Amino acid sequence: MSQGTDAVHAGYRPSGEFRPMLPPLHNSAAYQFESHGEAIEKFALRQSGFTYSRTGNPTVSILEQRVAALEGGAHAVATATGQSAVALSLLALTQGPKHIVASSSLYGGTVDLFTDTFADFGIRVTFVDQADHAAWGNAIQEDTRAFFLESVSNPLCTVADLPAIAAIAHEHNIPVVVDNTLATPVNVKPLDFGADIVVHSATKGLAGHGSVLGGVVVDSGTFDFSNTVRWPQISAPRARLNNTSLLERHGAGAYTMLVRSKFLHDLGPTLAPASAQSILTGIETLPVRAAHVHRSITTLIDKLSSHPGIAAIHHPSLSSHPSFELAATITPNGTGCVLAIELADPSLVSPVIDGLSLISLAANVGDTRTMISHPATMTHCRLTEEQLVAAGLNTSTLRLSVGLEDPADLLADLTQALDLALVLAPQTQGA
Ligand SMILES: *Cc1c(COP(=O)(O)O)cnc(C)c1O
Repeated sequence: MSQGTDAVHAGYRPSGEFRPMLPPLHNSAAYQFESHGEAIEKFALRQSGFTYSRTGNPTVSILEQRVAALEGGAHAVATATGQSAVALSLLALTQGPKHIVASSSLYGGTVDLFTDTFADFGIRVTFVDQADHAAWGNAIQEDTRAFFLESVSNPLCTVADLPAIAAIAHEHNIPVVVDNTLATPVNVKPLDFGADIVVHSATKGLAGHGSVLGGVVVDSGTFDFSNTVRWPQISAPRARLNNTSLLERHGAGAYTMLVRSKFLHDLGPTLAPASAQSILTGIETLPVRAAHVHRSITTLIDKLSSHPGIAAIHHPSLSSHPSFELAATITPNGTGCVLAIELADPSLVSPVIDGLSLISLAANVGDTRTMISHPATMTHCRLTEEQLVAAGLNTSTLRLSVGLEDPADLLADLTQALDLALVLAPQTQGA
Protein backbone atom coordinates (compact mmCIF):
# COMPACT_ATOMS: atom_id res chain seq x y z
CA MET A 1 0.00 0.00 0.00
CA SER A 2 1.08 3.59 -0.40
CA GLN A 3 2.17 5.51 2.67
CA GLY A 4 -1.03 7.56 2.87
CA THR A 5 -3.06 4.35 3.02
CA ASP A 6 -0.69 2.67 5.49
CA ALA A 7 -0.97 5.72 7.76
CA VAL A 8 -4.68 5.00 8.10
CA HIS A 9 -4.83 1.19 7.84
CA ALA A 10 -1.50 -0.58 8.50
CA GLY A 11 -1.57 -3.02 11.40
CA TYR A 12 -5.36 -3.08 11.85
CA ARG A 13 -8.51 -4.32 10.13
CA PRO A 14 -11.77 -4.26 12.12
CA SER A 15 -12.23 -7.67 13.73
CA GLY A 16 -13.78 -9.44 16.72
CA GLU A 17 -17.40 -9.36 17.83
CA PHE A 18 -17.98 -5.60 17.37
CA ARG A 19 -15.50 -4.82 14.58
CA PRO A 20 -14.67 -1.31 15.87
CA MET A 21 -13.30 0.99 13.18
CA LEU A 22 -10.85 2.66 15.57
CA PRO A 23 -7.97 0.42 16.71
CA PRO A 24 -9.37 -0.60 20.13
CA LEU A 25 -7.79 0.32 23.44
CA HIS A 26 -6.84 -2.90 25.23
CA ASN A 27 -6.18 -1.76 28.77
CA SER A 28 -5.00 -4.92 30.46
CA ALA A 29 -1.85 -5.72 32.37
CA ALA A 30 -2.09 -9.47 31.76
CA TYR A 31 -3.65 -12.04 29.40
CA GLN A 32 -5.37 -15.31 30.21
CA PHE A 33 -3.78 -18.55 29.06
CA GLU A 34 -6.07 -21.30 27.82
CA SER A 35 -3.95 -23.98 29.45
CA HIS A 36 -0.84 -24.41 31.54
CA GLY A 37 0.85 -25.80 28.42
CA GLU A 38 0.23 -22.54 26.57
CA ALA A 39 1.67 -20.53 29.48
CA ILE A 40 4.79 -22.69 29.52
CA GLU A 41 5.38 -22.19 25.79
CA LYS A 42 4.79 -18.43 25.92
CA PHE A 43 6.98 -17.79 28.94
CA ALA A 44 9.77 -19.81 27.33
CA LEU A 45 9.36 -17.53 24.27
CA ARG A 46 8.77 -20.59 22.10
CA GLN A 47 5.27 -19.38 21.25
CA SER A 48 4.53 -15.76 20.44
CA GLY A 49 1.63 -13.87 21.94
CA PHE A 50 0.85 -11.61 24.83
CA THR A 51 1.64 -12.59 28.41
CA TYR A 52 2.10 -9.33 30.30
CA SER A 53 1.89 -5.79 28.93
CA ARG A 54 5.43 -4.73 29.82
CA THR A 55 6.68 -6.64 26.77
CA GLY A 56 3.64 -6.54 24.49
CA ASN A 57 0.06 -5.31 24.23
CA PRO A 58 -2.44 -5.65 21.34
CA THR A 59 -2.98 -1.87 20.96
CA VAL A 60 0.74 -1.15 21.17
CA SER A 61 1.34 -3.94 18.66
CA ILE A 62 -0.88 -2.21 16.08
CA LEU A 63 1.23 0.93 16.47
CA GLU A 64 4.44 -1.10 16.07
CA GLN A 65 3.15 -2.63 12.84
CA ARG A 66 1.97 0.72 11.51
CA VAL A 67 5.26 2.52 12.10
CA ALA A 68 7.21 -0.45 10.68
CA ALA A 69 5.04 -0.23 7.54
CA LEU A 70 5.53 3.54 7.19
CA GLU A 71 9.31 3.19 7.53
CA GLY A 72 9.51 0.14 5.26
CA GLY A 73 10.94 -1.90 8.16
CA ALA A 74 10.38 -5.54 9.12
CA HIS A 75 9.78 -5.20 12.87
CA ALA A 76 9.28 -2.51 15.51
CA VAL A 77 9.14 -2.08 19.28
CA ALA A 78 7.32 0.84 20.88
CA THR A 79 8.67 2.47 24.04
CA ALA A 80 7.43 4.98 26.61
CA THR A 81 9.36 7.93 25.14
CA GLY A 82 11.68 8.83 22.30
CA GLN A 83 14.44 9.01 24.87
CA SER A 84 13.98 5.33 25.77
CA ALA A 85 13.78 4.37 22.08
CA VAL A 86 17.22 5.93 21.52
CA ALA A 87 18.63 4.34 24.70
CA LEU A 88 17.26 0.82 24.09
CA SER A 89 18.14 0.76 20.39
CA LEU A 90 21.79 1.43 21.28
CA LEU A 91 22.05 -0.58 24.52
CA ALA A 92 21.09 -3.60 22.42
CA LEU A 93 24.13 -3.02 20.18
CA THR A 94 26.74 -1.89 22.70
CA GLN A 95 26.73 -4.44 25.51
CA GLY A 96 30.20 -5.20 26.63
CA PRO A 97 30.39 -2.11 26.85
CA LYS A 98 31.29 -0.94 23.35
CA HIS A 99 31.83 2.21 21.29
CA ILE A 100 29.54 4.42 19.18
CA VAL A 101 30.36 7.00 16.51
CA ALA A 102 27.74 9.75 16.52
CA SER A 103 26.99 12.99 14.73
CA SER A 104 27.83 16.08 16.78
CA SER A 105 24.50 17.71 15.92
CA LEU A 106 21.99 15.74 17.98
CA TYR A 107 18.93 16.35 20.12
CA GLY A 108 20.00 17.66 23.58
CA GLY A 109 18.53 14.71 25.49
CA THR A 110 20.54 12.33 23.32
CA VAL A 111 23.73 14.30 23.98
CA ASP A 112 23.04 14.08 27.74
CA LEU A 113 22.43 10.31 27.43
CA PHE A 114 25.67 9.77 25.48
CA THR A 115 27.99 12.03 27.47
CA ASP A 116 26.67 11.29 30.95
CA THR A 117 24.61 8.12 31.46
CA PHE A 118 26.18 6.00 28.69
CA ALA A 119 29.60 7.12 29.99
CA ASP A 120 28.57 5.82 33.45
CA PHE A 121 27.77 2.46 31.77
CA GLY A 122 31.20 2.44 30.09
CA ILE A 123 29.73 2.98 26.61
CA ARG A 124 32.04 5.42 24.79
CA VAL A 125 30.82 7.84 22.13
CA THR A 126 32.99 9.72 19.63
CA PHE A 127 31.23 12.73 18.11
CA VAL A 128 32.06 13.72 14.53
CA ASP A 129 31.09 16.53 12.19
CA GLN A 130 28.26 14.80 10.32
CA ALA A 131 29.20 16.31 6.95
CA ASP A 132 32.86 15.18 7.22
CA HIS A 133 32.72 11.66 5.76
CA ALA A 134 36.40 10.94 6.46
CA ALA A 135 35.78 11.75 10.13
CA TRP A 136 33.20 8.93 10.42
CA GLY A 137 35.71 6.42 9.06
CA ASN A 138 38.58 7.76 11.18
CA ALA A 139 36.52 7.56 14.38
CA ILE A 140 35.85 3.81 14.00
CA GLN A 141 37.53 1.72 16.70
CA GLU A 142 37.93 -2.01 16.98
CA ASP A 143 34.85 -2.22 19.20
CA THR A 144 32.61 0.30 17.40
CA ARG A 145 29.14 -1.26 17.23
CA ALA A 146 26.92 1.58 15.97
CA PHE A 147 26.78 4.80 13.99
CA PHE A 148 24.13 7.21 15.28
CA LEU A 149 22.75 10.30 13.59
CA GLU A 150 19.55 12.23 12.86
CA SER A 151 18.14 12.22 9.31
CA VAL A 152 17.26 15.92 9.74
CA SER A 153 18.86 17.86 12.59
CA ASN A 154 17.23 20.35 14.90
CA PRO A 155 16.98 23.34 14.55
CA LEU A 156 19.10 23.94 11.43
CA CYS A 157 17.51 21.10 9.43
CA THR A 158 20.82 19.71 8.22
CA VAL A 159 20.03 16.70 6.01
CA ALA A 160 22.26 13.66 6.58
CA ASP A 161 24.05 12.08 3.62
CA LEU A 162 22.65 8.69 4.63
CA PRO A 163 23.94 6.64 1.64
CA ALA A 164 27.52 7.88 2.09
CA ILE A 165 27.58 7.39 5.88
CA ALA A 166 25.91 3.96 5.64
CA ALA A 167 28.49 2.84 3.07
CA ILE A 168 31.32 3.66 5.49
CA ALA A 169 29.57 1.84 8.37
CA HIS A 170 28.78 -1.26 6.32
CA GLU A 171 32.38 -1.60 5.13
CA HIS A 172 33.15 -2.24 8.82
CA ASN A 173 30.05 -4.36 9.61
CA ILE A 174 28.60 -1.55 11.76
CA PRO A 175 24.82 -0.91 11.82
CA VAL A 176 23.51 2.63 11.27
CA VAL A 177 20.87 3.89 13.69
CA VAL A 178 18.97 6.96 12.50
CA ASP A 179 16.70 9.21 14.57
CA ASN A 180 13.95 10.11 12.08
CA THR A 181 11.84 12.17 14.50
CA LEU A 182 12.02 15.54 12.83
CA ALA A 183 11.62 14.39 9.23
CA THR A 184 9.06 11.61 9.87
CA PRO A 185 8.78 8.73 7.34
CA VAL A 186 6.62 10.94 5.12
CA ASN A 187 9.68 13.05 4.27
CA VAL A 188 12.41 10.40 4.38
CA LYS A 189 12.57 6.65 4.94
CA PRO A 190 16.15 6.18 6.19
CA LEU A 191 16.02 2.41 5.61
CA ASP A 192 15.69 3.13 1.86
CA PHE A 193 18.96 5.09 2.03
CA GLY A 194 21.05 2.44 3.79
CA ALA A 195 20.16 2.83 7.49
CA ASP A 196 19.57 -0.39 9.45
CA ILE A 197 17.55 0.83 12.41
CA VAL A 198 15.26 3.87 12.77
CA VAL A 199 14.21 5.43 16.06
CA HIS A 200 11.44 7.94 16.74
CA SER A 201 10.21 10.23 19.39
CA ALA A 202 6.56 9.55 18.51
CA THR A 203 5.80 12.47 20.84
CA LYS A 204 6.52 14.84 17.96
CA GLY A 205 5.39 14.43 14.36
CA LEU A 206 3.90 10.92 14.60
CA ALA A 207 1.48 11.70 17.45
CA GLY A 208 1.31 15.22 16.09
CA HIS A 209 -0.89 16.88 18.70
CA GLY A 210 1.43 17.41 21.65
CA SER A 211 -0.79 15.14 23.74
CA VAL A 212 1.33 12.10 24.64
CA LEU A 213 4.89 10.84 24.84
CA GLY A 214 6.08 7.76 23.03
CA GLY A 215 8.94 6.20 21.08
CA VAL A 216 9.49 3.52 18.47
CA VAL A 217 12.50 1.44 17.35
CA VAL A 218 12.16 0.04 13.79
CA ASP A 219 14.47 -2.64 12.40
CA SER A 220 15.03 -3.28 8.70
CA GLY A 221 15.68 -6.94 9.53
CA THR A 222 18.51 -7.00 6.99
CA PHE A 223 21.67 -6.31 9.01
CA ASP A 224 23.92 -9.38 9.34
CA PHE A 225 24.25 -10.13 13.06
CA SER A 226 25.49 -13.72 12.52
CA ASN A 227 29.08 -13.19 13.70
CA THR A 228 29.00 -14.68 17.21
CA VAL A 229 32.18 -12.91 18.29
CA ARG A 230 30.93 -9.50 17.21
CA TRP A 231 27.26 -9.91 18.13
CA PRO A 232 27.10 -12.54 20.90
CA GLN A 233 23.92 -10.98 22.32
CA ILE A 234 22.09 -11.93 19.10
CA SER A 235 23.84 -14.92 17.57
CA ALA A 236 25.44 -16.78 20.49
CA PRO A 237 23.46 -19.24 22.65
CA ARG A 238 22.16 -17.66 25.85
CA ALA A 239 21.31 -19.32 29.15
CA ARG A 240 18.17 -17.20 29.30
CA LEU A 241 16.97 -18.85 26.08
CA ASN A 242 17.75 -22.44 27.11
CA ASN A 243 21.06 -22.20 25.32
CA THR A 244 19.65 -21.19 21.98
CA SER A 245 20.29 -17.84 20.27
CA LEU A 246 17.88 -15.08 19.35
CA LEU A 247 19.02 -15.44 15.75
CA GLU A 248 18.12 -19.15 15.67
CA ARG A 249 14.73 -18.46 17.18
CA HIS A 250 13.70 -15.25 15.50
CA GLY A 251 15.80 -14.88 12.34
CA ALA A 252 15.39 -11.38 10.91
CA GLY A 253 13.41 -10.41 14.02
CA ALA A 254 16.31 -11.18 16.39
CA TYR A 255 17.41 -7.59 17.03
CA THR A 256 13.84 -6.48 17.76
CA MET A 257 13.39 -9.43 20.11
CA LEU A 258 16.58 -8.44 21.93
CA VAL A 259 15.22 -4.92 22.45
CA ARG A 260 11.86 -6.31 23.58
CA SER A 261 12.66 -9.46 25.56
CA LYS A 262 15.76 -8.14 27.31
CA PHE A 263 15.82 -4.35 27.47
CA LEU A 264 12.11 -3.49 27.47
CA HIS A 265 11.49 -6.45 29.78
CA ASP A 266 14.36 -5.74 32.19
CA LEU A 267 14.37 -1.93 32.23
CA GLY A 268 10.62 -1.41 31.74
CA PRO A 269 10.06 1.80 29.70
CA THR A 270 6.84 0.46 28.17
CA LEU A 271 4.40 2.55 26.13
CA ALA A 272 0.93 2.82 27.70
CA PRO A 273 -1.83 1.35 25.48
CA ALA A 274 -3.83 4.61 25.66
CA SER A 275 -0.79 6.51 24.40
CA ALA A 276 -0.41 4.00 21.57
CA GLN A 277 -4.02 4.61 20.55
CA SER A 278 -3.47 8.41 20.54
CA ILE A 279 -0.34 8.03 18.45
CA LEU A 280 -2.21 5.75 16.01
CA THR A 281 -4.88 8.42 15.60
CA GLY A 282 -2.20 11.06 15.09
CA ILE A 283 -0.44 9.00 12.43
CA GLU A 284 -3.65 8.79 10.38
CA THR A 285 -3.30 12.49 9.51
CA LEU A 286 0.51 12.61 9.31
CA PRO A 287 0.77 12.80 5.50
CA VAL A 288 -1.92 15.51 5.34
CA ARG A 289 -0.34 17.48 8.22
CA ALA A 290 3.12 17.21 6.69
CA ALA A 291 1.92 18.58 3.36
CA HIS A 292 0.14 21.52 5.03
CA VAL A 293 3.16 22.32 7.21
CA HIS A 294 5.47 22.24 4.21
CA ARG A 295 3.25 24.68 2.29
CA SER A 296 3.13 26.99 5.33
CA ILE A 297 6.91 26.90 5.73
CA THR A 298 7.34 27.78 2.05
CA THR A 299 4.98 30.75 2.47
CA LEU A 300 6.72 31.98 5.64
CA ILE A 301 10.19 31.78 4.06
CA ASP A 302 8.97 33.55 0.95
CA LYS A 303 7.26 36.40 2.82
CA LEU A 304 9.69 36.85 5.73
CA SER A 305 13.19 36.63 4.22
CA SER A 306 13.33 40.31 3.30
CA HIS A 307 12.14 41.59 6.70
CA PRO A 308 14.74 44.02 8.18
CA GLY A 309 14.51 42.28 11.57
CA ILE A 310 15.75 39.00 10.05
CA ALA A 311 19.40 38.36 9.17
CA ALA A 312 18.87 34.88 7.70
CA ILE A 313 16.46 32.00 7.47
CA HIS A 314 18.03 28.55 7.64
CA HIS A 315 16.09 25.96 5.68
CA PRO A 316 17.19 23.32 3.12
CA SER A 317 14.75 24.69 0.54
CA LEU A 318 17.02 27.76 0.24
CA SER A 319 20.12 27.60 -1.97
CA SER A 320 22.11 29.30 0.84
CA HIS A 321 21.59 26.22 3.09
CA PRO A 322 24.45 23.66 3.20
CA SER A 323 21.94 20.81 2.65
CA PHE A 324 20.23 22.41 -0.37
CA GLU A 325 21.51 19.79 -2.85
CA LEU A 326 21.21 16.73 -0.57
CA ALA A 327 17.67 17.76 0.37
CA ALA A 328 16.67 17.66 -3.29
CA THR A 329 17.44 13.91 -3.43
CA ILE A 330 16.81 12.78 0.17
CA THR A 331 13.94 15.01 1.37
CA PRO A 332 12.31 16.39 -1.80
CA ASN A 333 8.95 16.95 -0.04
CA GLY A 334 10.36 18.89 2.90
CA THR A 335 12.27 18.25 6.12
CA GLY A 336 9.41 18.57 8.59
CA CYS A 337 8.00 21.31 10.75
CA VAL A 338 11.15 23.13 11.90
CA LEU A 339 12.52 26.40 10.59
CA ALA A 340 15.43 28.41 12.06
CA ILE A 341 15.19 32.19 11.93
CA GLU A 342 18.25 34.25 12.72
CA LEU A 343 17.33 37.75 13.86
CA ALA A 344 19.32 40.83 12.85
CA ASP A 345 20.56 41.34 16.41
CA PRO A 346 20.44 39.43 19.73
CA SER A 347 18.66 42.42 21.35
CA LEU A 348 15.62 41.60 19.19
CA VAL A 349 15.19 38.10 20.63
CA SER A 350 13.15 38.89 23.77
CA PRO A 351 11.01 41.62 22.16
CA VAL A 352 10.12 39.35 19.22
CA ILE A 353 9.28 36.36 21.46
CA ASP A 354 7.28 38.45 23.91
CA GLY A 355 5.57 40.35 21.09
CA LEU A 356 4.00 37.21 19.62
CA SER A 357 0.39 36.59 20.49
CA LEU A 358 -0.68 33.58 18.42
CA ILE A 359 2.63 31.70 18.43
CA SER A 360 3.58 30.21 21.83
CA LEU A 361 6.95 30.13 23.54
CA ALA A 362 7.30 26.40 24.26
CA ALA A 363 9.92 23.68 23.91
CA ASN A 364 8.26 21.17 21.63
CA VAL A 365 8.08 20.39 17.92
CA GLY A 366 5.56 18.64 15.72
CA ASP A 367 2.46 19.96 17.49
CA THR A 368 -0.65 21.23 15.69
CA ARG A 369 0.08 24.62 17.37
CA THR A 370 2.99 26.74 16.20
CA MET A 371 5.69 27.19 18.82
CA ILE A 372 8.82 29.27 19.03
CA SER A 373 11.91 28.74 21.15
CA HIS A 374 15.32 30.31 21.67
CA PRO A 375 17.89 27.48 21.56
CA ALA A 376 20.76 29.50 23.11
CA THR A 377 18.84 30.08 26.36
CA MET A 378 16.49 27.06 26.29
CA THR A 379 17.23 23.68 24.66
CA HIS A 380 20.93 24.46 24.10
CA CYS A 381 21.50 26.57 27.26
CA ARG A 382 24.31 24.34 28.55
CA LEU A 383 26.40 24.91 25.41
CA THR A 384 29.27 27.42 25.50
CA GLU A 385 29.33 30.19 22.89
CA GLU A 386 31.90 28.15 20.87
CA GLN A 387 29.77 25.00 21.03
CA LEU A 388 26.78 27.04 19.89
CA VAL A 389 28.71 28.30 16.89
CA ALA A 390 29.96 24.75 16.17
CA ALA A 391 26.30 23.68 16.14
CA GLY A 392 25.65 26.40 13.55
CA LEU A 393 23.66 28.50 16.01
CA ASN A 394 24.16 31.86 17.66
CA THR A 395 22.39 33.93 20.29
CA SER A 396 20.09 35.46 17.64
CA THR A 397 18.69 32.14 16.34
CA LEU A 398 15.04 31.30 16.96
CA ARG A 399 13.47 27.92 16.27
CA LEU A 400 9.97 27.81 14.88
CA SER A 401 7.93 24.58 14.89
CA VAL A 402 5.20 25.26 12.37
CA GLY A 403 1.75 23.89 13.19
CA LEU A 404 -1.56 23.71 11.39
CA GLU A 405 -2.81 27.30 11.72
CA ASP A 406 -3.55 29.31 8.57
CA PRO A 407 -0.10 30.50 7.40
CA ALA A 408 -1.53 34.01 6.83
CA ASP A 409 -2.21 34.30 10.58
CA LEU A 410 1.27 33.01 11.45
CA LEU A 411 2.80 35.51 9.05
CA ALA A 412 0.77 38.37 10.51
CA ASP A 413 1.80 37.44 14.06
CA LEU A 414 5.50 37.16 13.19
CA THR A 415 5.45 40.39 11.16
CA GLN A 416 3.82 42.47 13.89
CA ALA A 417 6.24 41.08 16.53
CA LEU A 418 9.26 41.82 14.31
CA ASP A 419 8.00 45.33 13.48
CA LEU A 420 7.36 46.08 17.15
CA ALA A 421 10.77 44.72 18.21
CA LEU A 422 12.50 47.00 15.72
CA VAL A 423 10.65 50.00 17.18
CA LEU A 424 11.57 48.96 20.74
CA ALA A 425 15.23 48.44 19.78
CA PRO A 426 15.74 51.12 17.09
CA GLN A 427 19.54 51.06 17.36
CA THR A 428 19.57 47.64 15.72
CA GLN A 429 17.65 48.76 12.64
CA GLY A 430 19.47 47.58 9.53
CA ALA A 431 22.07 45.76 11.62
C1 LIG B 1 12.10 14.87 21.48
C2 LIG B 1 13.17 14.11 20.81
C3 LIG B 1 13.72 12.96 21.39
C4 LIG B 1 13.28 12.46 22.76
O1 LIG B 1 11.94 12.11 22.72
P1 LIG B 1 10.94 12.15 23.99
O2 LIG B 1 9.70 11.59 23.44
O3 LIG B 1 10.86 13.57 24.44
O4 LIG B 1 11.57 11.29 25.04
C5 LIG B 1 14.70 12.28 20.70
N1 LIG B 1 15.13 12.70 19.51
C6 LIG B 1 14.64 13.81 18.92
C7 LIG B 1 15.17 14.24 17.61
C8 LIG B 1 13.64 14.55 19.55
O5 LIG B 1 13.16 15.65 18.98
